[in-house]
Amino acid sequence: MAGDAVSRFVSGAERESQTRFEMIDSVERENTARVLEAFKNHRVSQRHFSPSTGYGYGDIGRDTISDIMAELMGCEAAVVRPQIASGTHALAICLFGILRPGDVLVSAAGKPYDTLDEIIGSSGEPGSGSLADYSIGYRQAELKDGRVDLGALERALDDKVKLVLVQRSRGYDWRPSLTPDDIRGVVEVVRRAAPGAYVMVDNCYGEFTLTSEPGHLGADIMAGSMIKNPGGGLAPTGGYIAGRRELVELASSRLTSPGIGGEVGSYAGGYQSFYQGLFMAPHTVAQALKTAVLAAAAFGALGYEISPPADGGRQDIIQAIKFRGAEELISFVRAIQAASPVDSEAVPEPWDMPGYQHPVIMAAGTFVSGASIELSADAPIREPYAAYLQGGLTYQHGRLGVEAAIRRLIEGGYIEGLPG
Ligand SMILES: *Cc1c(COP(=O)(O)O)cnc(C)c1O
Repeated sequence: MAGDAVSRFVSGAERESQTRFEMIDSVERENTARVLEAFKNHRVSQRHFSPSTGYGYGDIGRDTISDIMAELMGCEAAVVRPQIASGTHALAICLFGILRPGDVLVSAAGKPYDTLDEIIGSSGEPGSGSLADYSIGYRQAELKDGRVDLGALERALDDKVKLVLVQRSRGYDWRPSLTPDDIRGVVEVVRRAAPGAYVMVDNCYGEFTLTSEPGHLGADIMAGSMIKNPGGGLAPTGGYIAGRRELVELASSRLTSPGIGGEVGSYAGGYQSFYQGLFMAPHTVAQALKTAVLAAAAFGALGYEISPPADGGRQDIIQAIKFRGAEELISFVRAIQAASPVDSEAVPEPWDMPGYQHPVIMAAGTFVSGASIELSADAPIREPYAAYLQGGLTYQHGRLGVEAAIRRLIEGGYIEGLPG
């Protein structure tokens, strides 16, 4: 089949996506205004970009990017740090910083993201330093029809519960991302049924997809990765934590040590790329969202099961696409890799990634290693053979990736004809 036919087909999907694209533009505009306002409020200038060394006492670049993040997430305080190694690390710092022996952690939205299993201690070796090793209990309220079940959450709460974890994004699960109303609902139930407990949001992949963030919805603390949405594709590493001041301080004591907290920590690389990345983030997220909508429209029209639907609400940047088996799934992921600006000749293989229970195949032909705000695809090799496509620094690159994937699936005999 001629390549042009694929391009024409995808142009059709693009035309059908225009209403969604306009909604995404409007979120981008409002978030850009919020970011600009925060930069102005904090008088960002060249001096914030200077590197620091040693203890980093009074590092104004570090402290100001953290204050800006707090403002954007609707929170009192934040820490943004290159020393936070990943989103998982940021989440772990919050959990270990806040929870004490005898406390119970409750997940409000079913099983949390895979990498949390070993932190909680529901998998992995006893003695590995998990929450369970410190006698911190865990239970979860299962989702009902893919949505938060507030009744089940209420039943899971008692006065031992210190923290209720809410994962905003779908992660690697076939379920919708949480809406602001879902998060508000969880906050309301926790305030009423366990007034001593805090609500913590795993905000990975959620930042800037809407104009409200968890802090605006009443969450007490949240964490995320700087090589996902809020780094705008430019931050080279890092994570953030934002929330109520006393909770951010507890987390900071775990990040460094009690008594030192967020007061130390230098960065010889300087924070310029964090500032520029945060400034770009509303735009970059919009590019990723448009890529996701286009993929949904195109693969939906080809008869694939997709989540969310092309015209569905989005609270994360992930597009899930279900394939009919492992081989087809692997073909898709390899096509995304081949359409990448970096390591395009690499052929991804499923591997046992640290922190994941099943072999995972990943396409990440990215400038920042493993950065999933760049066009990338992940798939655990397990039922229902779903690939999770996310990112795209530019929409046009995202579109080329979608086209390349469709071409490869045609070549592999998985797609027999294009509709229309
Ligand atoms: C990516 C992600 C994480 C973990 O982040 P890493 O940076 O890969 O450690 C946690 N939760 C969700 C929902 C994620 O998407």
